[in-house]
Amino acid sequence: MSGKISFFKSVEDYVDKAAAFTDIPEGLVAQIKACNLVLQIRFPIRRLNGDYEVIEAYRVQHSHHRLPTKGGIRYAETVDQDEVMALAALMSYKCALVDVPFGGAKGGIKINPAKYSTEQLQNITRRYTTELVKKNFIGPGIDVPAPDYGTGPREMAWILDTYQAFRHGEIDSIGCVTGKPVTQNGIRGRAEATGRGVFYGLREAVSFADDMKKLGLTKGIAGKTMVVQGLGNVGSNTALISQQEGDVKIIGVAEREGSIYCESGIDVEKLLAFRKETGSIMGFPGSTALPNNLAALELECDILVPAALENQITVENAARIKAKIIAEAANGPITADADPILTKKGIVTLPDFYINAGGVTVSYFEWLKNLSHHRFGRLENRFQHNAFEGILNKVQELTGKTIGDRERDFLTRGGTEVELVNSGLEDTMITAYQQIRDTMKQHPDIGDVRTAAFVCSLKKIASDYISMGIFP
Ligand code: NAD
Repeated sequence: MSGKISFFKSVEDYVDKAAAFTDIPEGLVAQIKACNLVLQIRFPIRRLNGDYEVIEAYRVQHSHHRLPTKGGIRYAETVDQDEVMALAALMSYKCALVDVPFGGAKGGIKINPAKYSTEQLQNITRRYTTELVKKNFIGPGIDVPAPDYGTGPREMAWILDTYQAFRHGEIDSIGCVTGKPVTQNGIRGRAEATGRGVFYGLREAVSFADDMKKLGLTKGIAGKTMVVQGLGNVGSNTALISQQEGDVKIIGVAEREGSIYCESGIDVEKLLAFRKETGSIMGFPGSTALPNNLAALELECDILVPAALENQITVENAARIKAKIIAEAANGPITADADPILTKKGIVTLPDFYINAGGVTVSYFEWLKNLSHHRFGRLENRFQHNAFEGILNKVQELTGKTIGDRERDFLTRGGTEVELVNSGLEDTMITAYQQIRDTMKQHPDIGDVRTAAFVCSLKKIASDYISMGIFP
């Protein structure tokens, strides 16, 4: 691994640290940490100039303690086996933490999607899916991919179509991949789910006055200052929802092209429109340009949200980070050797496998919808509406008072799909944070949220193995 710190090894080290706070047998910890299956794929494509290129790709199933396995597919030049193994492992701990009954998996193709035409990307995606089908690495009960860095609903639609071409007539085939377009059996709310989950998790974490007092902050999300790195799916939705629903002030933003600062707050919707039009965040009216794209990470703020890629906060810049809270919206943005530097400075890190779990949570809802073959609420909404109408009519009759149209509408209508999805997501993020916080209270010497979260996940996975009779 040419002197580079192994991302997978750093996940293993975090698990070992957490295991010391449990009584899980050493052999079981070793089994939980191990990657169960690693698929390396190589296939050729023809470039526009007529040359051939060998494409390097992976799919890793980290843990089979629950099936199917689940995890996104990443298109990035950084992809290598170590990265995909680490991301697959994080998926196992993430699913366990938020009670999503899947094992962890991840896929990656080592390409920069910006360098390929749409047609080539479609060919690459379909060929990759074909390899997964050939090796039995995809299926609604086997392994279910989703979007990650560099991929989105478009790629998921190609994966579904390719899978169905091989598995014609398989009744649950639409559940072979999640994050699909809503028109292709996706679910409303999935596109923004990870960012929305980051917001719910943050809002919960800052809601405890005693925890905030230790950071010199008051409780509550409103008015907190935030810096966001990466305005892709996760970063843009985190920033937008935090601003619109939490009244958070976004004072800094970093993208590939550089970073900007604005003390009075950046209107995220306008910034996204500006970048779409000009291709850059630089020059956004009212903002000041910072020296480079890492500079925003060092701004003084309440909440820092790295939402681009791993290894952004390292031993090189950790000592200069001034945020009070870091929400790891990206996977692995803090290197293992930088983590203790931040903890020592008193910074609270909400770890990736908790704070970005909204994506897999709503993917789980999408998979449930696909297997049940109907939209949430379709069977019961009308029935509930009529029942509530009946109750309100009785209340009116008994009290002699009239319930206004607006109140009646609010009290009788069932939730829409996106409302049900968001409420399930909100509940998931709150419940998981409460479990982490309870673990920290049980073990005051644990010291950081990441270790406490790993303790929660480890205990759940260990209990699955034990109940399977594998480790009596
Ligand atoms: P994306 O491709 O939609 O967006 C990534 C953004 O980061 C892009 O806008 C890119 O230009 C920007 N970026 C790249 N290098 C940068 C740099 N050096 N400085 C600043 N910005 C930079 O990807 P995404 O889906 O938003 O994923 C981002 C992270 O979140 C990844 O670590 C991914 O694993 C994690 N994640 C994603 C999901 C999901 O549902 N998409 C779920 C959980 C975790």
